[in-house]
Amino acid sequence: MGKTIKTSVDHHKCVGSRICTAIAPKAFALNSEGQAQPIDPPHESIDVIRMASEGCPVSAITVEESD
Ligand code: SF4
Repeated sequence: MGKTIKTSVDHHKCVGSRICTAIAPKAFALNSEGQAQPIDPPHESIDVIRMASEGCPVSAITVEESD
């Protein structure tokens, strides 16, 4: 069975750099305020999502993985 991936973005931190939406466009989208919004469920592999999370310059993205 596949794992469930849940992501969240801290909007107190997100500066709208668009790095996550560039790396993982099927997991993050920009909202009308220009901040990243998780796409639920994300349609990217966990590796790509982690890369997007690690690429965030302000560490605004939390990734949770569960069975
Ligand atoms: S990479 Fe981080 S700061 Fe940039 S849009 Fe995504 S969540 Fe916001």
